[in-house]
Amino acid sequence: MANPGGGAVCNGKLHNHKKQSNGSQSRNCTKNGIVKEGQDFVPLYQDFENFYTRNLYMRIRDNWNRPICSAPGPLFDVMERVSDDYNWTFRFTGRVIKDVINMGSYNFLGLAAKYDESMRTIKDVLEAYGTGVASTRHEMGTLDKHKELEDLVAKFLNVEAAMVFGMGFATNSMNIPALVGKGCLILSDELNHASLVLGARLSGATIRIFKHNNTQSLEKLLRDAVIYGQPRTRRAWKKILILVEGVYSMEGSIVHLPQIIALKKKYKAYLYVDEAHSIGAVGPTGRGVTEFFGLDPHEVDVLMGTFTKSFGASGGYIAGRKDLVDYLRVHSHSAVYASSMSPPIAEQIIRSLKLIMGLDGTTQGLQRVQRLAKNTRYFRQRLQEMGFIIYGNENASVVPLLLYMPGKVAAFARHMLEKKIGVVVVGFPATPLAEARARFCVSAAHTREMLDTVLEALDEMGDLLQLKYSRHKKSARPELYDETSFELED
Ligand code: PMP
Repeated sequence: MANPGGGAVCNGKLHNHKKQSNGSQSRNCTKNGIVKEGQDFVPLYQDFENFYTRNLYMRIRDNWNRPICSAPGPLFDVMERVSDDYNWTFRFTGRVIKDVINMGSYNFLGLAAKYDESMRTIKDVLEAYGTGVASTRHEMGTLDKHKELEDLVAKFLNVEAAMVFGMGFATNSMNIPALVGKGCLILSDELNHASLVLGARLSGATIRIFKHNNTQSLEKLLRDAVIYGQPRTRRAWKKILILVEGVYSMEGSIVHLPQIIALKKKYKAYLYVDEAHSIGAVGPTGRGVTEFFGLDPHEVDVLMGTFTKSFGASGGYIAGRKDLVDYLRVHSHSAVYASSMSPPIAEQIIRSLKLIMGLDGTTQGLQRVQRLAKNTRYFRQRLQEMGFIIYGNENASVVPLLLYMPGKVAAFARHMLEKKIGVVVVGFPATPLAEARARFCVSAAHTREMLDTVLEALDEMGDLLQLKYSRHKKSARPELYDETSFELED
């Protein structure tokens, strides 16, 4: 970063100093940390990314970061914003765009709802415990509510034990370093979430990347790891940990779990599965990818998930064998240094889990899981019939619709909002430059009428913007359309 004095501030950490070919440092850092201009820092941004931000993103950025002012239910309220300076700044008009159909929130089971009858227990917990715990799990921050929640999570997942954390992102980034370190090898899917990537980097283990959901690419890395061991010394790796997700949030793909489990057994590696987008949303009773494939959950060494999507709350969990969880209770930075989960949040998750497991004495939770599966298959099928290209597995509620051209992204999102449909659009650098897409999240709370309204708008938009790229239109499957619709009771 240039400063007015013509130097560049060096904090000694952020900038890697590139070595000259003769091995000397290419700049002189003075004692006060100022270095001379014209020296070659490793750039924080690539030139091209800058070009993209200035010339494209600035023109269309009204389609991101739109504030909403209601619960992220199937319908939500969006605050109207305008820009007077070509998107450099925004100003609120004071008006609210009411009842927009929400196709973007990860509200898979529709539990991120406004206060209703079944949320009474949360109010009780709020009155009894307050909002904050004001201590870590190790000190005075372990409540009976945490214990109750952890037992319930373990029961839900059908494993020996579970531990919960206040933040999903930190569940990955702070626990992976407790599991592996120097001398260990991490094999990570190329499309893994940033929290997994950060955890892997913080751990100090060697990281190798395999192609997305590609078991041949993974096996090659495993074979090489076992044959060659660590670089230079050729000692065997202390541990090999495979990191994958259950459902990938930008692709809608479901992990090839049976093949990966077979590989991890063959090469004696460990497996860590992040179920942020699959827990509650995949499997006949919402128990995630192990249930989806009919596998014993103990086949996965570390089951991780978040409560931010299907459970309408916040936080994350790690579950598996009791010795794993006991180890993390002592060694995880998230357990030792972070304040524990807020009690009303813990109660919201307990309530959601009881609902899904039928422990509330109703079949409402199961109905939501089934409804989500039905809505997902219907929505995906209809889009394919229309001739759109969509990615992923037909059972994944994350549905990416390929727009390809960055220029179409803005027109698409703006037109959809005019029709009172809120969508998430994704482009470079989150996707390859020529693979911009809209990413829908189907919810159990969407009625057939809502989905049909969205599909009708998409059909129109597909013709207007010429988005129906597929040469292999799917034929109609009427068995998916006969709606034995049920309204979700609260
Ligand atoms: N893992 C995955 C795969 C995610 O997609 C996310 C966030 N969407 C996280 C972890 C982080 O979870 P949270 O948002 O609950 O902190």
